[in-house]
Amino acid sequence: MATYRIGVLNGDDIGLEIVPVAVRVLKTALARHPEAEVEWVPLPIGYLSFIEHGKSLLPEVLDTLYTLDGWILGPIGHMAYPKDPQCINPHPILRKKYDLVSNIRPAKAYPGVKCINPQTDLIIVRENNEGFQPDRNMYMGTSDCMPTPDMALSLRVVTRRNSSMAARTAFELARQRGGKKKVTAVHKNTVFKLGCGLFMDSCREVAKEYPDIELESCIVDTFAMRMLMNPVQYDVVVTTNMFGDILSDEAAGLVGGLGMAPGLCVGPDYAMAQATHGSAPDIAGKNIANPFAMIESARMLLDWLAHKKQDEAGMAAAKDIADACMRVLMGDKESLTPDLGGTGSTVGMGEAICAQITEE
Ligand code: ATP
Repeated sequence: MATYRIGVLNGDDIGLEIVPVAVRVLKTALARHPEAEVEWVPLPIGYLSFIEHGKSLLPEVLDTLYTLDGWILGPIGHMAYPKDPQCINPHPILRKKYDLVSNIRPAKAYPGVKCINPQTDLIIVRENNEGFQPDRNMYMGTSDCMPTPDMALSLRVVTRRNSSMAARTAFELARQRGGKKKVTAVHKNTVFKLGCGLFMDSCREVAKEYPDIELESCIVDTFAMRMLMNPVQYDVVVTTNMFGDILSDEAAGLVGGLGMAPGLCVGPDYAMAQATHGSAPDIAGKNIANPFAMIESARMLLDWLAHKKQDEAGMAAAKDIADACMRVLMGDKESLTPDLGGTGSTVGMGEAICAQITEE
């Protein structure tokens, strides 16, 4: 019997619609595997938390997260937040505070979903907490600054620790997938001789621990072109933060858009399900957001924790969800949201996935 404590933080805009659907799908799958027991812990976050409790990120919430195995975080619409020091963007803080160094972003084509390359099946592991991202790569202050009104500086941070951790996540995934058994490290060490040089050194060091997995390297601009032309040659890709940010959206474009782009942030102690897409305010409240990316992110969380706890029941529940999603995506257009060419709704697509799980 394995027990899990999983937090549920809806986020903003479409998060209020897609996170409850993702939780419902997980609960449906787990009901068939009662040896895996989940305690669900709902927590306020984002704009609603600011309105109801005065802060978008409450200290009590941060304390509670330390007691969990992992959590589901809905998209955050911080761009529309009022300019108030109590209403801050919580997700970079969460990634940093809980040491969620690796952001795992799969790009997988599903039969039935219109996309650029139907053979695509790769994972991008993006270092999450340093690089060019100024809101998380400094102890104090930010690394995006203006010494004079006519000059701006953006500093990039690369450490051996975080590069090695992201690389280790990539090698573990390549081994677990058992596919091409290849990790592609993406860099620009022709220009960033020290920063990308240190990143590549770290990847090569970690590769020594995985003699069964091939390490290849590719310069970022070449990689961006090759991934478009022939994504099938890639298996697991590891790269620094900003390159990974851009390349994972490009990869999402290959397989049908942001609604198909899940993500899982992981570190030594915690994991956080967080889809690649934003809070999509343009379609919020209309029951048309594609819940797949959020469901798949939550499924990845369950699978990750189940592997960590070596819990067969949790792994089986995660597999049931994957199989059910595959069948729904291949099935009737009435069950799919409009971005997938369907006539269905957010809730309807969730119901169809739950129905497939119970029919399995
Ligand atoms: P952020 O910078 O916070 O990641 P963004 O600028 O990338 O956000 P999104 O909120 O992700 O923007 O939305 C980009 C476009 O993709 C919008 O037109 C939005 O409606 C669409 N979109 C995003 N997520 C989904 C989804 N789950 N289902 C359908 N459409 C989506």
